Amino acid sequence: MSHCRHCHSTNLFPVLDLGFAPPSNAYLTKEQLHQSELTLPLRINVCEQCWLVQTQDFTVPEQLFVDDYAYFSSTSSSWLSHAKQYCEMITSRFNLNQDSYVVEIAANDGYLLQNFVAAHIPCLGIEPTADTASAARAKNIPIVQAFFNANMAQEMANKGQQADLIVANNVFAHVPDINDFSLGLHKLLKANGVITLEFPHLLSLLEQVQFDTIYHEHFSYFSLFAVKQILAKVDLRIFDVETLNTHGGSLRVYACHLDSAHQTSARVQQLIDQEAAHRLFQRDGYQNFQSKVDKIKNDLVRFLIEKKEQGKTVVAYGAAAKGNTLLNYAGIKPDLLPVVFDAAKSKQGKFLPGSHIPILSPNHIEQYSPETILILPWNIVCEIAESITKRYKNCNFTIAIPSLKSYE
Ligand SMILES: [Zn+2]
Repeated sequence: MSHCRHCHSTNLFPVLDLGFAPPSNAYLTKEQLHQSELTLPLRINVCEQCWLVQTQDFTVPEQLFVDDYAYFSSTSSSWLSHAKQYCEMITSRFNLNQDSYVVEIAANDGYLLQNFVAAHIPCLGIEPTADTASAARAKNIPIVQAFFNANMAQEMANKGQQADLIVANNVFAHVPDINDFSLGLHKLLKANGVITLEFPHLLSLLEQVQFDTIYHEHFSYFSLFAVKQILAKVDLRIFDVETLNTHGGSLRVYACHLDSAHQTSARVQQLIDQEAAHRLFQRDGYQNFQSKVDKIKNDLVRFLIEKKEQGKTVVAYGAAAKGNTLLNYAGIKPDLLPVVFDAAKSKQGKFLPGSHIPILSPNHIEQYSPETILILPWNIVCEIAESITKRYKNCNFTIAIPSLKSYE
């Protein structure tokens, strides 16, 4: 019997069943193509007690999810400018200076903290992945290589390392024990400190049918309402919220201690009211999601078959987790999509898990003379299309989500 990862209720309502899928980062070598491949059920449920949307738990060896394919945030120019703007805004809003202390959880390669270092604001990054942590150190950013949890936060607090600002961007959804992580935030935060959390918004996932953001390593899909309850359980209060365009629609939540001086903005309740209006706190809001997902799958498969019958080549771009969820659910194999291009050298020469589509450097695009390039990371479609156009001009671009759409 499954339990809600926040409130432990067994009252879970099924939202989406994506069949069986391999871990999204289990890229294969040529030799591994001849071996059996591990796949696991990929299902999401909503808890009818606290309305947290979450992947269904199952027992698997932890090492399955060890990420050998570190994503370096600094390789994306749009992420770098998003981080810079955030640092300027937050420094001015909360008067951060050389006496402040900023801690970022999942600091990656220092793409964000480098702005605080440049502004002479003391900071520390916590980052579990060795490659990205050492890239951050090379930029003179102090880094602890670890997974953040309540024990670690307590130890830091004991050493007087509490933070005026805790930044946790795009990590909350990847944490299996969301209650322990939240308790850690509480312990690490100074009395009048501020936490900002960014995460993809459940409302965008449902409205834009962004089902490819669902994979095993992504444990929770948050409404503001659910996050408010999770934080309230550890005596943290959400006092402000902003909507962002990142990841196809994210929230930036501002939280503080319950009794802290920060005034709660009316925006918090307004956004929860908007979520309620979209029926996120009743079964109704989830009931037709599977059929919307199936329509996207069918449209894409039909498109690829038609192109093949017309003798036109379609290739893909972006060998990331997103693409794997879509391709595996749709059952697309190299006969319909012969290659996926990706700039990450660590993936080139390997094969996508499940679909076994080969991954090549974008230098090879011209050899395939594609009529259409299917861009899998639809959230940065413009950035990718622009970079492809610099080397190869004679093709159309297509995205599959929220619906099949072509750009000439
Ligand atoms: Zn629950």
